[in-house]
Amino acid sequence: MRIVLVGPPGAGKGTQAAYLAKNLSIPHISTGDLFRANISQGTPLGKQAQEYMKAGRLVPDEVTIGMAKDRLEQPDAAEGFLLDGFPRNLNQAKVLDEILDEKGIALDGVLDLEVPEDEVVKRIAGRRVCRNESSHVFHVTYSPPKTEGVCDVCGGELYQRDDDSEDTVRKRLEVYHRETEPVIDYYKAQGLVVTISALGKVTEVTQRAMEALRLKTG
Ligand code: AMP
Repeated sequence: MRIVLVGPPGAGKGTQAAYLAKNLSIPHISTGDLFRANISQGTPLGKQAQEYMKAGRLVPDEVTIGMAKDRLEQPDAAEGFLLDGFPRNLNQAKVLDEILDEKGIALDGVLDLEVPEDEVVKRIAGRRVCRNESSHVFHVTYSPPKTEGVCDVCGGELYQRDDDSEDTVRKRLEVYHRETEPVIDYYKAQGLVVTISALGKVTEVTQRAMEALRLKTG
């Protein structure tokens, strides 16, 4: 199955993507995670991306598209994938269509996670992420780890992302409305979008998502 996951920052895309990819036996491809891995390894690509990410802006397409294309060409993505955080603007969406067209394949669905804006800011301001695995996510108030600063799942160090400050979140939301929402309309015109609420427990949202995808893709 070939799925794109969209939703504002703080909708829980990374968390849901990890569960959904596991349930569907497809790789979870997150451009944000790929950038963060490049940054922590100090690669030239990481250096190019860093300042944009810190400012809550999109990394330029010249950098992002090549990286996403390379990842989609890996053998594990041949039979399906769950894209998280890509495409994030109309140009990326059109290029993704071209990449898939060339291979004679197409997307099966686009899952749109909906969450009210005030909830987004609350979620992100308290978010703490594991350094070992970005889908291990906690919240200082809503889902605190048993020991402060330590991941319950793997013992990794929890940290606050550079781009999770309130100012940067507002910038990321602005970018989302301007650049990414048109992508949802683009996919709506292709009849691919299924929208679900991202409110409630993580397991409830996963169930809702699985059911919506099953109905959409058969
Ligand atoms: P995420 O982990 O998906 O929230 O992404 C974190 C940051 O990485 C974004 O705010 C952007 O700066 C950058 N980023 C991730 N995916 C893309 C993309 N498809 N296009 C441009 N920038 C991206």
